[in-house]
Amino acid sequence: MIQSNDKIVVSINWELPEDEFTNSIDSYILEAKNSGKVLTLPLPVFKGEGFIYQMAMLLSQVNCKSCASYCCRHDVTGHGIGLSEYDVELLNEHGHGDVIKKIGNDYWIPMPCPFLHEHKCLIYDYRPTTCLCFPWDPGGVDGLTGEMLFSVESSCPEARRIIRNTYLTAWKFRDKMKRLHLYKGGE
Ligand code: SF4
Ligand code: SF4
Repeated sequence: MIQSNDKIVVSINWELPEDEFTNSIDSYILEAKNSGKVLTLPLPVFKGEGFIYQMAMLLSQVNCKSCASYCCRHDVTGHGIGLSEYDVELLNEHGHGDVIKKIGNDYWIPMPCPFLHEHKCLIYDYRPTTCLCFPWDPGGVDGLTGEMLFSVESSCPEARRIIRNTYLTAWKFRDKMKRLHLYKGGE
């Protein structure tokens, strides 16, 4: 499987022995982090109901307790927090319209975020969709099929932890299934 976007191409070799596979994943994660690229799983972005559960599985694993609100203080996307029309509506309803920037049809909140106060989000219940979905980052594309891959922002320590655990758990599970003759690999 080759995964790519305009920033990254990576090849996952599942046939490596476990220690080498672990090293290859650690290198992949480090390279993505150092160069500001997304991290992808070899898994397409599901549609409809499937997407809801895919996102729920990611977001339910994110634990921000040991992070100093990195994503609220740094412009990880390079263009502030992009806002949907609904986000704009909600911010206006709650009297925060003054923080919204606009060029053409694009709306955003500049960084560092003015709603961060002592590591807490002052608008948590109606935070922008980008914040709600973070660290999901829809930047990964399968270099072979052109399909969008499930990808996350590599600057987020929790995203890196989750991706690492997912790949290493997948390696172990594949290995077990192969030994049980329930999976041949490459399907
Ligand atoms: S960067 Fe990641 S771990 Fe840190 S606050 Fe944001 S989502 Fe949480
Ligand atoms: S709106 Fe809230 S969650 Fe989003 S960046 Fe600002 S403080 Fe963080």
